[in-house]
Amino acid sequence: MACTCTGRDIAEVKLLLATKTVSIPDIQEALSCGIGLVGENKVQELAAKQPLLKQEGASFHFIGHLQTNKVKDVLKYADCIQSVDRLDLAKKLHERLCFENRTMDIMLQVNTSAEATKFGVHPGALADFAKQVAVFDTLKVKGLMTIGLFDAEQARVRNCFRTLRVLKERLQQYNLPGFDMQELSMGMSNDLETAIDEGATIIRVGTAIFGKRIYPDSYYWNEQQ
Ligand SMILES: *Cc1c(COP(=O)(O)O)cnc(C)c1O
Repeated sequence: MACTCTGRDIAEVKLLLATKTVSIPDIQEALSCGIGLVGENKVQELAAKQPLLKQEGASFHFIGHLQTNKVKDVLKYADCIQSVDRLDLAKKLHERLCFENRTMDIMLQVNTSAEATKFGVHPGALADFAKQVAVFDTLKVKGLMTIGLFDAEQARVRNCFRTLRVLKERLQQYNLPGFDMQELSMGMSNDLETAIDEGATIIRVGTAIFGKRIYPDSYYWNEQQ
């Protein structure tokens, strides 16, 4: 619907199922509609679910806060890590990938709302961060990811998404090695239409498909967990 309103081709926007807390049968049912992307927030949950779902042919994206001590496991189960947001994490991923002699698709997570509670690189620090990541030739950077402001006026939410798009356009001009940035992963159940309007190529949707979760999102977005 948002595509018709904004004149964008629906084929340009991929739907990623945000499946935290969702049961295997419910995910299978959604996948049977032809959706090809699944996103998990916790490495433990990804590791438990991916083996049971991989025969459905979906790609698994990691979209949660990633601790460096989970790097080995996340590389085992994920096809793309959307939440790379700091140098020590990028370095650990690279070291492990060198050891395994392979590469991994990643995205850089940006804190476009500048809220202290959110993870992600500050927009002003992104260019330097990207240049440092480019040194790690096992990391294939496919785009940028952000979480918009919650419960805010649409104009402010829109600003977050616009910021991400502009940052991507600027970064593309550097032609950094290992960077082939096609993706803008932005927009969730409450703000996906605005995100599509601002150029999202991946929207990450949970509640609008699976219903309300029993845990508050802070449980999933808290570094301590
Ligand atoms: C849970 C989650 C989503 C989906 O949120 P909904 O509001 O349920 O659509 C998207 N992105 C991330 C990073 C999430 O943790």
